[in-house]
Amino acid sequence: NFVPPIRSNGGNAGNMISTRGSGKCDDSLEDSTKRCLEMLCGPDGELPEKLRNLEPRLIEHVSNEIMDKDPNVRWNDIAGLEHAKKCVTEMVIWPLLRPDIFRGCRSPGRGLLLFGPPGTGKTMIGKAIAGEAKATFFYISASSLTSKWIGEGEKLVRALFGVASCRQPAVIFVDEIDSLLSQRKSDGEHESSRRLKTQFLIEMEGFDSGNEQILLIGATNRPQELDEAARRRLTKRLYIPLPSSEARSWIIRNLLEKDGLFKLSEEDTNLICKLTEGYSGSDMKNLVKDASMGPLREALRQGIQITELKKEDMRPITLPDFENALQEVRPSVSMNELGTYEDWNRQFGSLS
Ligand code: ADP
Repeated sequence: NFVPPIRSNGGNAGNMISTRGSGKCDDSLEDSTKRCLEMLCGPDGELPEKLRNLEPRLIEHVSNEIMDKDPNVRWNDIAGLEHAKKCVTEMVIWPLLRPDIFRGCRSPGRGLLLFGPPGTGKTMIGKAIAGEAKATFFYISASSLTSKWIGEGEKLVRALFGVASCRQPAVIFVDEIDSLLSQRKSDGEHESSRRLKTQFLIEMEGFDSGNEQILLIGATNRPQELDEAARRRLTKRLYIPLPSSEARSWIIRNLLEKDGLFKLSEEDTNLICKLTEGYSGSDMKNLVKDASMGPLREALRQGIQITELKKEDMRPITLPDFENALQEVRPSVSMNELGTYEDWNRQFGSLS
């Protein structure tokens, strides 16, 4: 029963939203929805063509929940991954900053796949790209399209690409992209998920052939599930591996230096790095969190009440805190899984 909120006869969008001819759905639009639509209007006060047949509540959802106005991650926040940073800078950031130079032979691919174990910084890279390229960042988890937005995923995908095209340059980050573009299902594939997949590929095709400054980044922990069509569209495929020993050391120090009082010698840090072989970046973060609870637990054991506790009552975080934390926080990725990523990288990854 949707009636577009805007008539295309010129004039001020705010007025148009509230005074459209039929008067059928204008009043039902919340003020927040109206404000959101107004912000997407062009200088002529009109809603861009691409958004006209979309449901206002979906546009609002994309603008408020999926669009991240301040991704707040920079390259310097990401440990290691030098290869990925270099590739991404050349392939994605420069073209977004200088579209005039990256034309013709230099025209960039519009699809990037980041694959590897969970918790290795794929989302961080996506946010950093948007931050460094001064682009608008859109984050969506593909599995939410099939679970939370049952029957509406297709419309939400249209709204997502529609709003992104009004907010260029834009980076659309699709987490767990395998659940959207997987090669399984085929025959028994549910009709609605097939339609969703088709809609998604159509949208990608659309901006790939045009002059739009939109980059799609897909992230997955299960690259082997992607089908051929997905691989074809995600032209650059970068392996995001587990952090090296240096990167793990950097993560520990970076997190501790932010707000903790700690006493770790270089040998202590080296030992922790040795003991955390196979830990992901997110495992490292959990380890530091757990270790930093050590001094607090000890102070409470000595009888100080949590409500009375002062920061000075806590001793610095030390190596034994990490040794205890290592018993609690185990690596989340198995060696077997790593082999699968490496095989896939050799077969389909962009090695340079
Ligand atoms: P992914 O998208 O690969 O599953 P994320 O980018 O969401 O992983 O990372 C989860 C958390 O783990 C981050 O918020 C960060 O605290 C930590 N982390 C992971 N990789 C790194 C890294 N290379 N450098 C710094 N922190 C990292």
